[in-house]
Amino acid sequence: MTRLIFLGPPGAGKGTQAKKLAEFLHIPHISTGDILRQAIKDQTPLGLKAQVYMDKGELVTDQLVEDLVKERLNQADTQNGWILDGFPRKVTQAAFLEELLTTIGQGGEKVVNLDAPDETVISRLLGRGRKDDSEDVIRHRLEVYREETAPLIDYYGDHHKLLTVNGNQSPEEVTTELQNLIAA
Ligand code: AMP
Repeated sequence: MTRLIFLGPPGAGKGTQAKKLAEFLHIPHISTGDILRQAIKDQTPLGLKAQVYMDKGELVTDQLVEDLVKERLNQADTQNGWILDGFPRKVTQAAFLEELLTTIGQGGEKVVNLDAPDETVISRLLGRGRKDDSEDVIRHRLEVYREETAPLIDYYGDHHKLLTVNGNQSPEEVTTELQNLIAA
């Protein structure tokens, strides 16, 4: 049973690696960013609310993502494990998740911190060309990461749930390191 939370700055390769590892382990890859982008594409009420924040590189409200994660983790395919990618992004969300996992009997989660230096993530993000990837928005997303999300590293460290992986190496090397870590 593997329950993993992927943490790391935008551009560290979190999404790619989380997806790969989830396929390898045959468990769902749950990316709040992907779910929100799909909702925007489909112009659902959730998408319309989220778009204003996402276009600016801001975090959407806790309520939006918390409702979404609660609904997703209650679906049947999460029984054998999951990888959460992009949630939690704030200490408030982490506290919410802890309570949710206790309530639905899905504890024992570990947190993978995929670390990479600023120069690496900025150049990767600029090369990616996603709609919310203009240079200003990228800088803002990194600021938001530092202020809101980076404190989760200490939070999960204090809870003895933290595993760290070096994201500043080739994607293949990261994949191998992750698979070894999970097998250990
Ligand atoms: P990502 O694909 O994980 O980089 O997320 C893209 C965008 O979706 C972020 O910049 C936020 O605007 C929004 N988002 C995704 N996950 C969360 C979250 N847990 N809390 C708040 N906003 C989020």
